[in-house]
Amino acid sequence: MNTDRLSNRLETVAKYIPAGAKFADIGSDHAYLPCYMLKKQKASFAIAGEVVDGPFLSAQKQVVNEGLSDVISVRKGNGLEVINDGEVDCITIAGMGGSLIAAILDDGKDKLRSVKRLVLQPNVSAYSIRIWLMDNEWSLMTEEIIEEDDKIYEVLVAEKGEGKKPYSSSHIDAELLLGPYLSKEKNQAFQKKWSIEKANWERIIGRLETANETEETAAKRQELSWKIALVQEVLGNESN
Ligand code: SAM
Repeated sequence: MNTDRLSNRLETVAKYIPAGAKFADIGSDHAYLPCYMLKKQKASFAIAGEVVDGPFLSAQKQVVNEGLSDVISVRKGNGLEVINDGEVDCITIAGMGGSLIAAILDDGKDKLRSVKRLVLQPNVSAYSIRIWLMDNEWSLMTEEIIEEDDKIYEVLVAEKGEGKKPYSSSHIDAELLLGPYLSKEKNQAFQKKWSIEKANWERIIGRLETANETEETAAKRQELSWKIALVQEVLGNESN
């Protein structure tokens, strides 16, 4: 991967950044995504935000080497605190866990006033993001699931307000876990991801059955059985 050619994962994120956007890439690491977007003139301005020294310095170096310092501002800070009010209309957060992404959005709510679109790529627990979006009146506009180098990634695109209502009241739990759009499309990556997750959960339940029963193990077993049932609800026999 470099700033001319992104991984499929980051290319999928890039695809959903509106043309000409001013965007902030939070947890930017080498700033590949902002450099790619600005080099190709697909965006007009970007902030590359990083909380850790090493990646922050890599991002700074990358932006200077590419000659993009006038259109990409590299800033050190936690989550959305690197954004000034009204500076961006789109935020990307990729390559972290879903609960960390949701926490970053929650801690930075006041910075979201001017933001129209969020493009989020959780490595795990997209569920936490769907819940956050729903609780905070962001509409999930679309989702993608892709496989790259034997890993499966989800990309969630949200816009402020009630633009779309993708959840059906009768299947909402399953759709929050697996994704309302992804559950309908059920592509190969989706089927693979959830068959693997389900097999893992079944293995854990098997181990818990041989362990001493405590309140904790009983609760874990119940949670995993519930998730298995939700996967079966969507995949049916395909998940066996
Ligand atoms: N976004 C890039 C990608 O998708 O390839 C880099 C992903 S990297 C695995 C995650 C990056 O997020 C790390 O560089 C880490 O330092 C940064 N990070 C984690 N928590 C953060 C936070 N609260 N604020 C800003 N950056 C954060």
